[in-house]
Amino acid sequence: MLFMPDLIVKEVGPIKVKSIGSIIFMEGEMKFWAWSAYDKCSFRCVYCSVEAQGVSKPQILKEEVGPLLDDFDKQAGRKFPFYMGVTSDPYPPIESEQQLTRHTLMELAKRPNIRVVLCTHGDMIARDIDVFKSMTNLEGVGITIPMHDNEKIKQLEPGAPTFEARVAAAIKLHEAGLPVHVNITPWIPGVSEADMIARELPADMKVNVGVLSYNEHQRYYTKYLFGRDIPSAQRVFGKEYTQEKINDAFLAAHKQIGGGTKGNLKWLVLPTSGKNHTHHLTNP
Ligand code: SF4
Repeated sequence: MLFMPDLIVKEVGPIKVKSIGSIIFMEGEMKFWAWSAYDKCSFRCVYCSVEAQGVSKPQILKEEVGPLLDDFDKQAGRKFPFYMGVTSDPYPPIESEQQLTRHTLMELAKRPNIRVVLCTHGDMIARDIDVFKSMTNLEGVGITIPMHDNEKIKQLEPGAPTFEARVAAAIKLHEAGLPVHVNITPWIPGVSEADMIARELPADMKVNVGVLSYNEHQRYYTKYLFGRDIPSAQRVFGKEYTQEKINDAFLAAHKQIGGGTKGNLKWLVLPTSGKNHTHHLTNP
């Protein structure tokens, strides 16, 4: 039986939130649709900003995907990008059997009006290069690699693939001519060595560096949308680092490393700067 949920519209302070099943749309300061085929996330990053740590479980049937995308297309058209990977990762290990993300991409390929943006910590993304290549509506793919030390990955992203596996996936997508970039986010003091990561990547690949943030605004909407509370990052790193200390360390690293050995590092402005995430600091 098809799920076909109703459209729900709620006003939360300055944000208008609409949801259709697992698709969420926020209007106001943040404008996006977020799609998640899985509830919870087996990668279990300790800093997860949407508190998704858990065991990834499908939250939609394959047959429900097409009708929901048609609804999205009707309501948003080309106006807003369709984000995959915001509320949980699209490539947890269970995706190898369920193939819900692959199926969604194939459905999106049939709807070129929908603009698609995807981010992941998973190396399984390389499996879907054939589908990505068939999409005329793929605007961007981000692979998140905040650290290069596999021992630290085991502690801080216990279910996620190794550094080498993620780098290999990023390179495969890049070689296939897809619009891929790497995100060193969150940049964590004493953990993230931006140049050590960027030097393993092609010189013409964009590499964004974004600071670990105890973002109040994000806290507000994730609590409302997902019923989750204090941001994980603050719970885990709050005793050791205030936001001010983290910001100072980030700015010092930016000053010291700049564009990095390959000149492909772009440091994002601090979240408190009043600018959005598309703004970068000028490299020294
Ligand atoms: S991969 Fe993303 S959604 Fe999953 S736990 Fe890590 S930060 Fe959260």
